[in-house]
Amino acid sequence: MYRLLAPAKINLFLQIVGNCLDGSGYHELVMVMQAVSLMDRVELMPRRDRQIKVRCTNPAVPCDQRNLAYKAAALLQRHFPACQGVEIFIEKRIPVGAGLAGGSTNGAAVLVGLDLLWQLGLTQQELQHFAEELGADVPFCLQGGTALALGRGEQLTPLPDLQDLSVVLGKYRSLSVATPWAYQTYRQEFAATYAQTPSEQEKARQEGGSATLLQAIQQHDLPTLAASLRNDLEKVVLPRYPLVAQLREQFLQAGAIASMMCGSGPTVFALAPSADEGYTIMQRVRRALPDPDLDLWVCECCPHGIQLETP
Ligand code: ATP
Repeated sequence: MYRLLAPAKINLFLQIVGNCLDGSGYHELVMVMQAVSLMDRVELMPRRDRQIKVRCTNPAVPCDQRNLAYKAAALLQRHFPACQGVEIFIEKRIPVGAGLAGGSTNGAAVLVGLDLLWQLGLTQQELQHFAEELGADVPFCLQGGTALALGRGEQLTPLPDLQDLSVVLGKYRSLSVATPWAYQTYRQEFAATYAQTPSEQEKARQEGGSATLLQAIQQHDLPTLAASLRNDLEKVVLPRYPLVAQLREQFLQAGAIASMMCGSGPTVFALAPSADEGYTIMQRVRRALPDPDLDLWVCECCPHGIQLETP
């Protein structure tokens, strides 16, 4: 049996440059992603037959072929037909439909775990290739840490770790946002601003502000880092979800050095320079917004992606 830890991610930067020029229907993005220590646990047990079975502690998660953990196992089984089946148990701690890549990180964990369980001997490059086939966020989830992600999110460049930075997450339990809806709505409203040609897209990438953030990360310059966060999807999600906009504002009032929506939302993250300050911010927000529907977590930046759980 293998037990893996699968971290969630936040986006410190999410710029929508335009449509992918390969006609795939995806968006061309510039993202800076950060793995955080809010993690799911994924257990893999061998089966004597060829079936793939998924169980999950959260009843909102589909356990059939729609589950990304299932899809990851099926993908490897297709490529390695001699492999047996697997029993997958997901202990869900990452909220679902939250913009934290919960499904993608489960898919990444199954790739890593099955490589070991089925003794496939995959290289890092082969694992990344399977991850890319599963979804745009899966390659990052595999690798974790801090990274620049281009294209649909699959072209990754590792960045220096953001040590000592505390991340407070807030999510209303009853709210969830479907990622495809957020991107489609953005396209409906902002297609006129899209860069249309390779050179226009390159210009948009250079002028989008990511270089300032990358430099701030290199130099561990927190004020500049805080000032250069960006998430274009806020433009469509915040006006429709006033509670999310209010939570973001509340984090800033509580003393966060920065606050922004995670990916397509509705989770909001706040940054603090230490765990102590992270807890203080969480308590202040809890007092200001005493809504039992609001879940809050304090976590850290995670310097890794999928890892085996150590006993
Ligand atoms: P994204 O990676 O698109 O930002 P998200 O973090 O917003 O996703 P997820 O928690 O991954 O959201 O869930 C999105 C949908 O994916 C869910 O509604 C669920 O039906 C489906 N899903 C498939 N597999 C999983 C999984 N292992 N865990 C959670 N959701 C899953």
